[in-house]
Amino acid sequence: MCSGRVDLAFVLRAFSNGVDGVFIGGCRLNECNYGTHGNYDALNMVLLCKRIMEHVGLNPERLRIEFMSSAEGILFADVMREFGNTVKELGPLGQGEGIDHNKLRSRLAEITKLVPYIKMMKNEKLASRLKTPEEYDTLFTKDEIDRLFSEVISYYIDPEKCQACMICAKRCPVEAIISAKNQIHVIDQEKCIKCGTCFEACPPRFGAVTKISGHPVPPPIPEEKRTIARKNAER
Ligand code: SF4
Ligand code: SF4
Repeated sequence: MCSGRVDLAFVLRAFSNGVDGVFIGGCRLNECNYGTHGNYDALNMVLLCKRIMEHVGLNPERLRIEFMSSAEGILFADVMREFGNTVKELGPLGQGEGIDHNKLRSRLAEITKLVPYIKMMKNEKLASRLKTPEEYDTLFTKDEIDRLFSEVISYYIDPEKCQACMICAKRCPVEAIISAKNQIHVIDQEKCIKCGTCFEACPPRFGAVTKISGHPVPPPIPEEKRTIARKNAER
């Protein structure tokens, strides 16, 4: 119903599936029927996605958003013809850019995994409504997006500090924390969406969850070393 419903993940999924170009059609800006102005959300998402495409090495012209009313059939036809020609000129996805097919797929898969993190980090800008096209030109910059990916935050549970209270595991929205009674907890980095909930939830007196950026996450403590010997349990 609304272009605002088009999620960043949908667009990345289309490119992951080898689609050569993605077009999003929205209602005219400031003419929202519902008063929710989701087309601004779509515009912001597209501008962010274009920067992400540049980061991945894809030509951002492969993604286009236009705003028009359902009565503007001729305009729609013109825009689609023009966009179709642009995509044809760019050639098949990745080939036109000289990126190896497998490399492109793995880059897109990595980025797609980070979508919740990207949306959380850029939440404010994604919800903004600017006034001029110039402001939109600089809403997201290439440097900013390159930095976003070079400084990705990971979360790690320090086995020396974890008291197996299980609070973090109960709060994790994607069940990414390997949890059991009296067992040091471990974050499954493959499942983790980097929401930071465990960091906030771990009681300060334990402070077992740490943020890591710029260097790799230490390997998980081996399973056979995860049991915590409680004094009460020993008696
Ligand atoms: S950062 Fe979020 S997703 Fe990752 S382990 Fe912690 S709570 Fe779960
Ligand atoms: S909340 Fe902290 S102390 Fe409790 S299980 Fe999680 S990491 Fe360990």
